[in-house]
Amino acid sequence: MRELLGGKGAGLHEMASLKLPVPPGYTITTRVCTYFYAHGGKYPPGLREGVAKSVARIEKAMGRRFGDAKIPLLVSVRSGARVSMPGMMDTVLNLGLTDETVKGLEEESHNPRFAWDSYRRFCQMYGDVVLKLKPENKNDPDPFEELIDRKKTLRGVVQDVDLTADDLHELVNEFRELIRTRTGHDVPQDPWQQLWAAIGAVFESWNNDRAVTYRKINNIPGDWGTAVTVQSMVFGNLGPDCATGVAFTRDPSTGEKGIYGEFLPNAQGEDVVAGIRTPRQISLRAGREWAKRNHVIEDERRTKHATLEESFPSAYRELLKVASRLERHFRDMQDLEFTIERGKLFMLQTRTGKRTAEAAVRAAVEMTQEKLIDRGTALLRVEPVQLEQLLHPRLDPRASKHVLARGLPASPGAVAGEAVFNADEAVAVANAGRKVILVRVETSPEDIHGMQVAEGILTARGGMTSHAAVVARGMGKCCVAGCSEIEINYAAGTLSADGKVIHRGEYLTLDGAAGEVIEGRVSTVEPVMSAFFKKFLSWADAERRLGVRANADTPHDAKVARDFGAEGIGLCRTEHMFFAPERIEAVREMILAENGEQRARALAKILPMQREDFVGILREMAGLPVTIRLLDPPLHEFLPKEDSEIRELASKIGVTSEHLKQVRDSLFEFNPMLGHRGSRLGISYPEIYAAQARAILEAAEQLRTEKVRVLPEIMLPLIGERREFEVLANETRDVAKQIGTPVKYTIGTMVEVPRACVEADKIGAVAEFFSFGTNDLTQMTYGLSRDDSGKFLADYVKRGIYKYDPFAQLDPEGVGGLMRIAIERGRRANRKLKIGICGEHGGDPESIKLCHRLGLDYVSCSPFRIPVARLAAAQAAIEERRSKRAFKDV
Ligand code: PEP
Ligand code: MG
Repeated sequence: MRELLGGKGAGLHEMASLKLPVPPGYTITTRVCTYFYAHGGKYPPGLREGVAKSVARIEKAMGRRFGDAKIPLLVSVRSGARVSMPGMMDTVLNLGLTDETVKGLEEESHNPRFAWDSYRRFCQMYGDVVLKLKPENKNDPDPFEELIDRKKTLRGVVQDVDLTADDLHELVNEFRELIRTRTGHDVPQDPWQQLWAAIGAVFESWNNDRAVTYRKINNIPGDWGTAVTVQSMVFGNLGPDCATGVAFTRDPSTGEKGIYGEFLPNAQGEDVVAGIRTPRQISLRAGREWAKRNHVIEDERRTKHATLEESFPSAYRELLKVASRLERHFRDMQDLEFTIERGKLFMLQTRTGKRTAEAAVRAAVEMTQEKLIDRGTALLRVEPVQLEQLLHPRLDPRASKHVLARGLPASPGAVAGEAVFNADEAVAVANAGRKVILVRVETSPEDIHGMQVAEGILTARGGMTSHAAVVARGMGKCCVAGCSEIEINYAAGTLSADGKVIHRGEYLTLDGAAGEVIEGRVSTVEPVMSAFFKKFLSWADAERRLGVRANADTPHDAKVARDFGAEGIGLCRTEHMFFAPERIEAVREMILAENGEQRARALAKILPMQREDFVGILREMAGLPVTIRLLDPPLHEFLPKEDSEIRELASKIGVTSEHLKQVRDSLFEFNPMLGHRGSRLGISYPEIYAAQARAILEAAEQLRTEKVRVLPEIMLPLIGERREFEVLANETRDVAKQIGTPVKYTIGTMVEVPRACVEADKIGAVAEFFSFGTNDLTQMTYGLSRDDSGKFLADYVKRGIYKYDPFAQLDPEGVGGLMRIAIERGRRANRKLKIGICGEHGGDPESIKLCHRLGLDYVSCSPFRIPVARLAAAQAAIEERRSKRAFKDV
């Protein structure tokens, strides 16, 4: 029904069929809109007769006549697509008013001001929507509003409501004069002419710039078209026994059951949203809470801010009944618009209510308990990504904000702090007890210490899998990445955006879920993990088939991950452990070693520290699988960049600065992601991997003797050839033999090189597990550098070449196709092969659903995305079951 009648039309028809009080009307379907566009603005045959008949029906129901001089029928002409496109298309209200009918309305209502105000509003909307009288330049004021302002100044009043009937009458004349001179047309005095012009204008508004842009952003097809609903007007502004308002069947911010909303006595719908008068609460309970929050004493509340429950008791009772009926009918929370005309309630709209994540979870759980929906439906009702919002602070929705720039929403949360421009400064300011936002063009492993102490991270370059994004997500820290709208000047310590300059030490706020950079300090609200949330996730666990693991590099992250429900670690990146200040020197010594012996000596210093890390992580995971990846990034990332640092390090380890520089330059690579990294390091420097394997296995052995269960999985990165895997796996097994531990461990590989997918039968025959490293696999499948593509990927998405950023959401055809080959060939060669994913896609709901369909055993993602993954995995299982059932039913 929605496809034909649009959301608004469908809701009205549904309410009418439930015999709820809806003003009579009719809907011209979206099919007519499609016809209209296909036939150069013509209507299908029979439409004129249909409209005439429908108007006659409304006339009969209302006891009024369209164009009648005494009791005129007035209608609204509203747009309505099948999905809500708020404010994008046009609407005309009070249609049917002419110089003649306005007099009838004046007499009938005994309220001349009301009649002329209605006519004034109609002329304004008709001029704007139908005759397209808009400001000539973007920055010019609205020409109608300008006339209203002029009139108010002339009369010495401030508010529209202080204009008299005569003022409004004059305004009608002035509006029409303006329309005539600017457009060459007048407001027609024939209501039928008005009606057809308005219907055409609403259809045309489907293709206005705003609507086209909105559709592009929200992936709404251009051929859906809009419906047009023509409905008898009812008035909430006829006098004190009238009102208009909006209501939700549950609180949209907490989900608590019960009517929740606002209304204004003696007002039209647009006044409630316009914010000129303070709307009142609907229920007495909400009214009392509002008064408390706003420090209004009870006497004043009762007299000046009386609730609907108090002022319109019978309409209130009816509204409660209607709300509950609609919720039961639609089996979901509803968002309602209503008007009370002379004490009588009319419903103008019902639609599914938008809600916060907290409300979505609570309403889903409670509606299941109320037997309104089943558990499967409850789980499908919540967007998985919404859950992550519940784990982080959010911007206070009531606070105002000035957005300076927008970047990628790389890691959610809302934070405020002083802008700093390098990691050391971040540490210094944080040590002084102040909050910081680390602002960098892009981050590198060298910035880790600054990232650790920062509230949030902002980068000007880099995509969704850039260093900043991946590391921030892992830490559960807010991050806005790739924000090309800002300009950073390190030397001056400034950031410029939107014509403003933010200096070092000045406050910035980041909203990582929206990708917004905001001026100054905006207040935030703390997260809550409610009992509803826990129950909801336990339902998800019962449904899902995919396992959910975490990408975690430290015992602390491992603990966070377990608390969120991780069933193991799918990726422990060992390189992050090398950056701790007390270790980096030994790591550098290892890199500068001129032979295997020197390297082994440096590694011997690192080994005990790494062993300690592994003990911590394995202990935390108490017998759950822990996949530890041997060293992956290119070595130059560990070397200092600044000359002063080079001098300092050279003297510390007894080499010349020249030698150190020479080594650094020899390691330099244009695109390090395709260079000397991953298993290639293990092939060139066997001592590195041997030392890491030793640290892992000694840690496991130590825990075994302490009777702690452990399940280490040693993972070789970037493998593309079976021999490569065999050589490195054998060297690891040799280490195990030397240690002589009976601890069970497995050796597997990341699958992140396309060749590994094609050769998966050969590699799968010798590996015990595969873990798809889809960050690199995406990079290599597309031939897109994961570090640099942020600069132009947005253009691909904007121009519709890619539907989305492939680093954020798995490409089901290309990358997914390679995964399919790898899974099929790998499992054919090795029935027991365990297969997971540890690229960033492991935390993206759509990608998780694809992983489910591909038959993976588990997904692994950053700790704060674990709840997201648990829900997405459950949804994948439910959707699969339902689509199978639907197939059977046919
Ligand atoms: C990957 O490539 O998907 C992966 C997880 O490894 P990294 O991001 O560390 O290269
Ligand atoms: Mg990788």
